[in-house]
Parts: sequence; C-alpha cells; structure tokens
Amino acid sequence: MSKLICSAINCLSNIDGLCTAKTIHINGGLNKKTYCETFSNRTLKSALASMTNINLVGEIRQAFNKDNIVMNPNILCRASNCNYNMKGQCVALNVQIYGATCNNNQCTQCETFQ
Ligand code: SF4
Ligand code: SF4
Repeated sequence: MSKLICSAINCLSNIDGLCTAKTIHINGGLNKKTYCETFSNRTLKSALASMTNINLVGEIRQAFNKDNIVMNPNILCRASNCNYNMKGQCVALNVQIYGATCNNNQCTQCETFQ
C-alpha cells in the first residue's frame, strides 16, 4: 500500500498532512493534471456525512505509534497514463498530493504522477 502525504489542509480527511480516508479516488491525467476526487471541504455537515470513509483502524494504530505512520488510504486512480497505475490501482510507494490552498477538488494535484 502506498504511503500518502497530502497538503490539502482544507480537506475533511486531512489531519496533520495525513489522509484519514479509507479509499481515495484520483482522477485526470490529461496534460499531467490530476486531482483528488475524494477532497471534501471541511464543514461540520461534511464531517458527519463522511463518517463511513474514515480509516479508524489506521487512526487508532497511529495514535499509539506516531513515529511509524501506518495510516494510508487505498488509492484508486483513473490516470491510466501514469507509470504507477496498475489497472486502476496506484502502486507507487510514496504518493504526495498537493492542495495547500484548495477549497475544491479541482485544484488538488497528485505530485507523484509520472
Ligand atoms: S485531498 Fe484527497 S488525499 Fe488529501 S486528505 Fe483529502 S481525500 Fe485525502
Ligand atoms: S502516482 Fe499515478 S497512479 Fe498513483 S495516484 Fe498519482 S497519478 Fe494515480
């Protein structure tokens, strides 16, 4: 499973640069432009609605093991022109998602695209 770091701090699933989603969907690929479809703007309503896509096991493990991050989402990806895409599954060891100033999924970006 890929290790994922994400700078989209406005995303509901982002805690301290880590993604707490169980599964994320990356889309795009045209002109190397990708985005995280799972991005959801952080509001109280969206927090409650997203309870089913939280990686609780990962979160609990991490709470007891902060030096060794084990919380990583399953990454499904539609960017079929990326070298790391194996039949819709991301196989990169380390994935970085950019989205520091994002308030919507279209301005996020998979920096690991190759
Ligand atoms: S933008 Fe995507 S990868 Fe980043 S925290 Fe949100 S769901 Fe996870
Ligand atoms: S590295 Fe490639 S396959 Fe993995 S999420 Fe990014 S664009 Fe998709």
